[in-house]
Amino acid sequence: MSVKTFQRGVNVPHYKEFSEGQPISTIALPSEVIIPLQQHIGAPGQALVSVGDKVTAGQKIGESSAFVSAPIHASVDGTVTAVEPRPGFTGASVESVVIAVDLKQKEPQWTKRDHTAMSKDELKAAIKDAGIVGMGGAAFPTHVKLSPPSPIDTIVINACECEPFLTCDHRMMVEMTDALVEGAKLIAKVVDAPNVVFGVEINKPDAIKALQSKISGEKGLSVVNLEVKYPQGSEKQLIKAVLDREVPPGKLPLEVGVVVQNVATAIAVYEACHLNKPVIERVLTLSGDAAYSPGNLMVKIGTPISHVLKERGGARVAEASKERELSLPPDLVGKIIMGGPMTGWAQSNLSVPVVKGTSGILLFSPTMVTETEHSDCVRCGKCVEHCPMFLYPNYIGQYAELGNYAKAAEWGAIDCFECGICTYVCPANRPMVQFVRETKKEIAAAKAAK
Ligand code: SF4
Ligand code: SF4
Repeated sequence: MSVKTFQRGVNVPHYKEFSEGQPISTIALPSEVIIPLQQHIGAPGQALVSVGDKVTAGQKIGESSAFVSAPIHASVDGTVTAVEPRPGFTGASVESVVIAVDLKQKEPQWTKRDHTAMSKDELKAAIKDAGIVGMGGAAFPTHVKLSPPSPIDTIVINACECEPFLTCDHRMMVEMTDALVEGAKLIAKVVDAPNVVFGVEINKPDAIKALQSKISGEKGLSVVNLEVKYPQGSEKQLIKAVLDREVPPGKLPLEVGVVVQNVATAIAVYEACHLNKPVIERVLTLSGDAAYSPGNLMVKIGTPISHVLKERGGARVAEASKERELSLPPDLVGKIIMGGPMTGWAQSNLSVPVVKGTSGILLFSPTMVTETEHSDCVRCGKCVEHCPMFLYPNYIGQYAELGNYAKAAEWGAIDCFECGICTYVCPANRPMVQFVRETKKEIAAAKAAK
């Protein structure tokens, strides 16, 4: 079997065993959902509803006229109780629509249509109307990505799921293969791409088999087996691994004729075009060594993470102490992360809601979390050796720490896609991703001030 990969990167422990065998299951609705009006890169939506309004699942409740944006929809039937800033997963407050969930919830009725008869423009409009964004975490509006200024010859479906613990894409590949393949074909149709390649890491043999069986005999569709390595799912590394094409620094995949979409996004495209269904729910992985009942869960957008934890028994260590109400004291749960452990965001507020880009909720015991202070760089060179972008994270970190963000940017901070490898391999525990995020923020602020 031929297996491909990219240069550099690291082999990290997978920890997929907690949830990879768990079929997708649905959790009960919360009593309230908090739906941020910005869940995407680009302009935030403006609320289309007011306090007291009755809303139904799938109704558009937020929108912007900007091209780079994505509409927001109610995920449940209910009544709007507030339109106000609420804490989001980055720690910043985000204008949000709060909905008290109607106890008599009706099953949403989606209007099936013949998506194969839809034109490219009709498909793109359906994708935009459904509020689809990159659901692997990047949250870039999909209709914008599918409006390239130059020809695209290949759609690469990112089916790597290379971050430890996360298994939701894996389960979707196995359980929703038809929707995934149809969605990928629709994406290809929108941009006139003759080829679709599914890049799957070989630790998901059942997914590879399901995809190969589904696409058998289909012209232009193929599955590429990939070595298990982090960060194979990042766009530039994936394109190199799958097609052996180099995306130049500072450029986008479209420069080499490629658009990358992830598994959940392709399925959302199918559902938008075939069912006229907006993004009101997603599959995420609940996992971590402290999770009482890990699994792959279908969760309504806006569901507070506290509700997800409560529905699944909370933390294993908390259960042992008969504490099921999820105060999750820090001596029992060392860290809660939204997303994957390498690129996700640590959470201290359990009222934060699940959004379109939430791929996971991870609970780690204190023994799994190293909270040691970082020290000065010892010039071991490991970060340089492993950086998949061929950057010098050591210099980025040193200059950012000194507050010299312009110099940190010169050393490539803007090209860094925050994979976290440099932090992972650094013997001095230097928080490089934090340095990079600070640099990007300061450089953006300096640009805006000009
Ligand atoms: S500098 Fe950025 S891209 Fe390179 S290893 Fe560190 S986080 Fe990853
Ligand atoms: S891995 Fe850490 S200690 Fe080693 S060169 Fe990079 S920043 Fe310095």
